[in-house]
Amino acid sequence: MPSTPDTSSSEGPTGRPMPKFGVPEILVDHGPARVVAVCNQKGGVGKTTTTINLGAALAEHGRRVLLVDMDPQGSLSVGLGLDAHNLETSIYDVLHGDTHVTDVLERTEVENMDVVPSNIVLSAAELQLVNEVAREQTLSRAIAPVLTDYDVVLIDYQPALGLLTVNALTASNSVLVPLECEYFALRGVALLQDTIAKVQERLNERLVLDGLLATRYDAQTIHRREVLHRLVEVFGDSVYHTVIPRTVRFPEATTGGVPIIDYAPRSPGARAYRQLALEVLARWDAE
Ligand code: ADP
Ligand code: MG
Repeated sequence: MPSTPDTSSSEGPTGRPMPKFGVPEILVDHGPARVVAVCNQKGGVGKTTTTINLGAALAEHGRRVLLVDMDPQGSLSVGLGLDAHNLETSIYDVLHGDTHVTDVLERTEVENMDVVPSNIVLSAAELQLVNEVAREQTLSRAIAPVLTDYDVVLIDYQPALGLLTVNALTASNSVLVPLECEYFALRGVALLQDTIAKVQERLNERLVLDGLLATRYDAQTIHRREVLHRLVEVFGDSVYHTVIPRTVRFPEATTGGVPIIDYAPRSPGARAYRQLALEVLARWDAE
């Protein structure tokens, strides 16, 4: 549930009254982390951008954040300025069981935010994992030793519903779904819900849907506005009040290897991710 809506506030982009999200409490003790899979089987919908910027915005509130790159394309690692092609070790070695996760962790430019990087080598893991015992739990086992060091772990992964994705869902407490407002998005969410339900039933019964996040949103386009309102009709409070606007600042920030909230802190995109962090924390508090 979202935090108590302040009904006196004006209508937000989703067509509902925009609640005011309070300042989150300062944490004295840290961990164990809530693990959140940032998931959509479609590419280019803002998964990596959301992982980096929500992570950075949560870190601003003193949350200790770990980002895990589970995409063989390594866009998250590149987006944080790492030289993904020349990593000595990566998430692949951790999944393979050769290396402890703490030996792969890298600090980022953002205080309180670390990353487990990945690169193309990870694409071999999908096949290799098939022969493992309890292959769906490999990631969960691999990150378990560091969960007490963090408050939030965000897992970014590839646009597919394969074994790496099932590993990410099995390791997670909840799923955050970034999506673009187009008609096929609704069908995509239904497919994803099927996968979540299967993982819940067979592998990880605590898994819940955190919320649906409209990204790359252009309020000028009637079509997008209609789809957003339809999304709210179908999925109700699962749709975040916060909407991420479409802005050229995001591709620029990615090239710069820094989160937009640092690259262009006053831009509408940075403000949106900061608000998302408050909304997400309010939801978690209300659970
Ligand atoms: P995914 O991880 O789902 O494939 P990305 O986060 O990599 O998606 O985003 C795909 C592309 O869209 C990137 O070039 C990114 O910079 C750009 N992008 C992401 N969010 C926005 C936005 N709100 N406005 C404009 N461009 C965006
Ligand atoms: Mg990505």
